[in-house]
Parts: sequence; C-alpha cells; structure tokens
Amino acid sequence: MKYPESFSSKLPKVKTSIFTVMSKMAADHDALNLSQGFPDFPVAEELVKKVSEYIAKGFNQYAPSPGLPQLRAGIAEKTERLYGNYYNPGTEVTVTAGATEAIFCAITAMIREDDEVIMFTPAYDCYAPTVELCNGKPVFVPLHAPDYKIDWDEVKKLITRRTRMIIVNTPHNPTGTILTADDIEQLERITKDNDIVIVSDEVYQHIIFDGENHQSMARYPELARRSFVVGSFGKTFHATGWKVGYCLAPENLTAELRKVHQYVTFAVNHPVQRALADYIQTPENYLHIAEMYREKRDYFVDALRGSRFKTVKSKGSYYQLLNYSEITDEPDTEFAERLTKEFKVAAIPISVFYNNPVQEHMLRFCFAKEKETLAKAAEILHKL
Ligand code: PMP
Ligand code: GLN
Repeated sequence: MKYPESFSSKLPKVKTSIFTVMSKMAADHDALNLSQGFPDFPVAEELVKKVSEYIAKGFNQYAPSPGLPQLRAGIAEKTERLYGNYYNPGTEVTVTAGATEAIFCAITAMIREDDEVIMFTPAYDCYAPTVELCNGKPVFVPLHAPDYKIDWDEVKKLITRRTRMIIVNTPHNPTGTILTADDIEQLERITKDNDIVIVSDEVYQHIIFDGENHQSMARYPELARRSFVVGSFGKTFHATGWKVGYCLAPENLTAELRKVHQYVTFAVNHPVQRALADYIQTPENYLHIAEMYREKRDYFVDALRGSRFKTVKSKGSYYQLLNYSEITDEPDTEFAERLTKEFKVAAIPISVFYNNPVQEHMLRFCFAKEKETLAKAAEILHKL
C-alpha cells in the first residue's frame, strides 16, 4: 500500500537505526551480537520477583503522569547522596519511558524553528532527528580518535545568538570517553553569559572505571540550573527492554518537559516503577555495576592482546572501541558487515554517528556480555 498524495518526509535523511540493522544481521547470520548495547545476562531475581508481585497485587492501571511519588523520591535521594544536589521530587523529577523519551521531551519542549543545538559527533542517534523534527538546526562538533577530546575553544566559536542548547553525553556512547573536571570548567565558562540549556545524557553514570568520578551536571549548581539530566534504569539494572528512565531539571524546565511527556506517553509502566522504587533503596544494587563491568572490559581487552585490533581502554559505558586499521582499510560499515556475515561477530560501525562520516577504522563492541560470549568473540577476532 502507498499513501496516495505526494508529500515530503519530515525526516528525509533518517534510515533504520544501525542498532536494528546490526542486531537483525547478527540474528540472520547466527553471529555473536556485540553490536546493539544490551546485556546478555539476566535482571536480578529480586527485581524480577518484585515486578511479578506488583502485577499480581493489581498495580496494573495508570501511574501518575510524572511518575510514582516513591520512585521520584528515591531518585532524588540517590542523586543528592551521589552528586550533592537536591531535586524536589514533586516538581523537578520526572519518570519517562526510557532515556529516549526524556531526551525527546526535553528537546521538543525547548527547541523552536531555527534554534541551534550543539552536539558532539560521534553522537547517539536520537539527538539530531529530534532537533530536526522541531525545525531546529543541529550544529555538529566532530571529535576524533584516539582520545575524542572536546576542543572547547572550537565550541565557543560555534555559539551564536541562535544557540539554544548543548547536548553532552558522559560516559560517552560510542567512544567510552568521559567528561573531566576540566571539561566541566570549560562548559561553565562558555555558558556563563548566556541562557543556553544543556541536555546531559548520563545513562551510563554508574558504569565508570579506574577511580574516575562521574561528572554529572547535577554536581555543579551553575550547570544544574540550566540542565536536563537524563538517566536510564535499563542501563543500570540490565533491563533495557523495560524502558524506564528519568529526567532531573529545575522546576520551570521540568514543567515544560512534563507538558510534552503528558502527551507522548502520559505515564510509565506502573508495576515496574513500584519494583524500582523498592530496589533503588539499596545503593549496592547500582553501585556494584562499575566493578562488574570493569572486569568485563578488562577480560575482553586482555583476551584481545596479540590480535591485530588496537584498543584504548574504555573509561566508562559498556562499549569498547577497537581500531582495525592493521587488518584492512575497508570503511567500517563494510567491515562490520563482513565481520558479521563471514566471521560471525557483530559490532557497530561508528562512522554512522557522524554527520560527515569520517573514517577512523573503528568498530564499537558491547562488552555487557557473559564471559563465555566475550571469550568466543575474542577467539574469532584473533583470526583476523
Ligand atoms: N542515550 C545513550 C547514550 C544510550 O546509549 C541509550 C541506550 N540505548 C539511550 C540514551 C537510551 O536509553 P533508554 O533505553 O533508557 O531509552
Ligand atoms: N543504546 C543502545 C546502543 O547504543 C541501543 C539502543 C537502541 O537500540 N535504540 O547500542
């Protein structure tokens, strides 16, 4: 069937997401799937039991639109304990259908036609299309291997009268880099004399390694008062399919975000919110994941020693970039396809996260996997 009228797409450049493409390719070719970012190990039994119990007890109707009060209170308490900033659960914390919805609502609530939004590439795939849906203009700042550092002087030069928002992401997907205290100082410097809003995608906040501190915008009052800080329980509790996330923002920004949230989802899965509200009372339930993922990262990187893949160890997130320039000069999209079809390991080509694709010969591997999966993948990668 086809819609009979001629019309123009609002998102002509958007194709099927690389995560969908690579996961399907992995399934079709029976390959190990280290592409799309999701764990291959189970959610904690206690959490699963709680969800089932709340369903059985009958908590199956709409939750309050901004989120269950006890979950919002738990998020506020956890944020204050970790980052020292108190967000009022009544007016400054909103539960969303994953981080994706929080990002969508924050951008949609703030961006008008011709507003400019600065983002760093390689960038997570949902940022630019959401800006474009609002008739805003994404302004891309490319970052480069091996360290993917932000040149803040370059960012400063890109700020115009129209700059409305900067989107940051730490720990960073896909590169596994993190913002440092120095980056934060620079961000404070360039936003000091304007009213630029920040969307801070912090879905990997608890997955940070080697004694580094997560630089949440919530830690810095001057940044917190202009920021939407976005979190995801999917990442923290290995439950990406539950799609529950949240957004922290000052009262007046939250009020605008909730106007959009009210009509995008209205409210988020009720029994899951109840279970999460109980489960986040125990900090160990989320604090232990940094060590668990550090072991997996080290296991994967160590297993690749002696192969022709080159690594700079991931500093955070559950992704590891591998440089394959010693193996081939194929573009990463082609190499990723060949790796999946011929060698049966799927990874994500990172050029797709750039506006003007640059060829760094890098693939992103998700190490949120059982050791056996990582061992099998490493064994195959050694053959290349
Ligand atoms: N931002 C980043 C950087 C991500 O990696 C993800 C995970 N897919 C999201 C946002 C979306 O998170 P969620 O699944 O909670 O919507
Ligand atoms: N965040 C996940 C990743 O980066 C994928 C999420 C999705 O499939 N949309 O791989």
